[in-house]
Amino acid sequence: MNSLAARLDALRGSSPAAPHTARTLAALTTNPGCDRRALMDAAGVDKDALAAHLNLPRPLRPSTIALDHGAAFERRVTAQAGAELVQLLRKTLNLTLPEVSYEDLNAVGGREPSSLPLRHARTRSLILSAAHDRAPARTLLNHPVLRLTVAGHPAYLEPDIVAFQNHGTFHIVEVKSFPVIDGQADPTKVAAALTQAAAYVLALRELLADDGLPPERVSNGVVLVNPRNFSHRPTATLIDAVQQIKSLSRHLGRLRRLPDLLDQLPPGTTFDLAPDSEANPTRPREELATALSAARAHYIPGCLRHCDLAYYCRDEARNQGRTEALGTTVRDDVAGIEDIAMALALADGHQHPSRDRADITHALRHAQRVHADFLAGTT
Ligand code: SF4
Repeated sequence: MNSLAARLDALRGSSPAAPHTARTLAALTTNPGCDRRALMDAAGVDKDALAAHLNLPRPLRPSTIALDHGAAFERRVTAQAGAELVQLLRKTLNLTLPEVSYEDLNAVGGREPSSLPLRHARTRSLILSAAHDRAPARTLLNHPVLRLTVAGHPAYLEPDIVAFQNHGTFHIVEVKSFPVIDGQADPTKVAAALTQAAAYVLALRELLADDGLPPERVSNGVVLVNPRNFSHRPTATLIDAVQQIKSLSRHLGRLRRLPDLLDQLPPGTTFDLAPDSEANPTRPREELATALSAARAHYIPGCLRHCDLAYYCRDEARNQGRTEALGTTVRDDVAGIEDIAMALALADGHQHPSRDRADITHALRHAQRVHADFLAGTT
């Protein structure tokens, strides 16, 4: 074990590492400035268990009904050896008839986490066989398992479909249950789906690069398959995910500076929950709070949708009077001023601005005058 891995293990403590998923990787891009999250994710800390131990409310998760609906739609799309999907992809990716050989990797080694290396090995062999043009090429792989190196550790990821065209390009295909109505889907959901797909694109590129193949053979174009209008009939859309791929790639690169982040922690800092023989955490909550405060957080309101510690960090930001607790717009508008008290002091003239804060002070004072006029009824 290298020293970085040993330091991350010590930070996590005695619990097993929580694996990365495409969803957790996508969350990296929503708050790239947060050292606390970067450290916890790299160490595989189970943030949900930690939040439960601290009695924190958790961000809303998709309901069981929504999950069941999504699973049913995916089953429908991939039923009968992907008959419906094959038709859609033939149209969307211009696949010719000989290019629609279909392989379901769900069956390889079972669905237990322990089968992931086996399913990855099978996926790797099929993908390399297609990439090297060895017959018979499997051109649609259902639930393959890819592997992405995250902060030096392998993370197993499971895209819905990998599609391969005989002229040499791989595409990630994601089946999502949110609808496309009159050709339009919810842009927030599309962006989230593309960010998840970006993790699969990077993992597939890593697989090809490890075998000396050009990673560019994996397309930036991701195919989203969604219900059409208000029906259960699927529709497929090819969307360019280059921005999401670049963004995720940048954030993964940032995880490489983990040794610096670890160096900034006081010696002995650990998020260990000290579980007893029945896996119940026994770590005193004050000790955990001290450990959390040692890792710099960067709270933004978006944390409420993406991170189990959101309510903890929001309270912390509010208690410390940080501008970020007021929302991203306010934080960006007063960029460079981190304290609400300082912003107020500049606005009401109790604090004289330094030269680099002259413009923002001018804007704050103007806003304060408008607000005062509004209250006085003179606007
Ligand atoms: S909730 Fe806290 S730990 Fe999670 S990303 Fe936001 S600031 Fe970071």
